[in-house]
Amino acid sequence: MAKGATNQCIQGECSCLIAPQVRLIYDSSRTVQEIRPDVAQFVKRAFRCLKELVQQHYLQTAAELGVALGATFDLCLSLLYAERVAHRQWLYCPRTPPKCFYTYLKSCPRCGRIDEQARVAHKPSSDSIGRYTTVCLTAILDELCKRTQNGWRVRLIASARGEVDLLLVSNKQLILGEVKASPLVAFPMGVLLEESLEEEVGGEQRYVNRHISTDVLGWKSQPVYLFVPDVNRTIPLRLEFPEGGQAHTVVPDRNHAELTEDLKVVIDAWKRMLDGYTSRWNQYADLRWFTFGCGSEVDDSKNAPGLDRTDDIKKGLYQAIKLTEKYRMNCSKQRVRVGLISNIHPVVHYSEYLQGVEDAVWTHESKLESDQHAPALWKRVRASDLSPFYDVLFTLTGSWFRNPEIERAFAMERLYRALGGES
Ligand SMILES: [Zn+2]
Repeated sequence: MAKGATNQCIQGECSCLIAPQVRLIYDSSRTVQEIRPDVAQFVKRAFRCLKELVQQHYLQTAAELGVALGATFDLCLSLLYAERVAHRQWLYCPRTPPKCFYTYLKSCPRCGRIDEQARVAHKPSSDSIGRYTTVCLTAILDELCKRTQNGWRVRLIASARGEVDLLLVSNKQLILGEVKASPLVAFPMGVLLEESLEEEVGGEQRYVNRHISTDVLGWKSQPVYLFVPDVNRTIPLRLEFPEGGQAHTVVPDRNHAELTEDLKVVIDAWKRMLDGYTSRWNQYADLRWFTFGCGSEVDDSKNAPGLDRTDDIKKGLYQAIKLTEKYRMNCSKQRVRVGLISNIHPVVHYSEYLQGVEDAVWTHESKLESDQHAPALWKRVRASDLSPFYDVLFTLTGSWFRNPEIERAFAMERLYRALGGES
């Protein structure tokens, strides 16, 4: 049994039917420090910057802090995506100064939508995206718990085929979490070229004046950076090669003050992109081509950010019902809860897909009793036999809670106060 487990469901002290299975899930879970200490470390650094931004009144409300965390999530994910960079098929942008980008969208991070044919996007597979987003969310939630001292701990399930993605554990409750997350933007890696690319046209050497796909052989020995579209900010990166021949990790090559300034710029640009997306691009239309799910051959429109992909809402809701039926309803002590967890709330699809079921409760027919006075009209049910579809839909930019204890622990207002904000 893992150290620090004081929750009775996982201590072996609970006699209910599903306790052995719950313990198996717990035993297969790990802390983010065990799985990706570098990600935990980066998120801890980012929280120090966010604390400063709260105390400088740069982030003035809990809602603004939530948006800042959404931006931090995408920055953290971009560092994980950057680990996959290889020398093949970078996008050459001919503007001055000439640059190459390792892009995840079929657009140029400097120019937006481009018409040229040579468009390659290096988006990770959906399995990899699922793994990365779960690691980033776990790291952020873990730091949230530490900063707020809310009494909860966060663990993730490393195996891909589990029915639960992460666990939130307190002394009294255990939340089985289903993660359905997706970035709004991934900041691509870029390199600055010393000279513009040339090509031979009709026997003459000419500068390439269009976007083309090209290999960047020596990228590992050159200065590389993350590129923030719209503001054209570059964040220098350092590749770290751990001992034992493991794959390199990517970290910002920045001190605390520099990283705080970077985060400010990232948060501002990210907020404009979120506002653009929220307005269905009636605002900030130019930024559309830097975001996932933007459509028009740049990225498939079904790749909506956060929990806004309708397929994810449907799958997530089903998984929440399944976990509720299998675990929550069989926990005799009412300790097991179910959560849907994402980076961004369903901005566009909430009202159509979730609002109507938000306050729904359900039970098995066998648990309904006929009312003796009006059996045809009324059924009775024990209150503890009623379950919501999920106990919490937690996202960084907005959450819906069905349980006051969970709300007290994870409300963004609590983190905002813990970082020094006044509400
Ligand atoms: Zn360009």
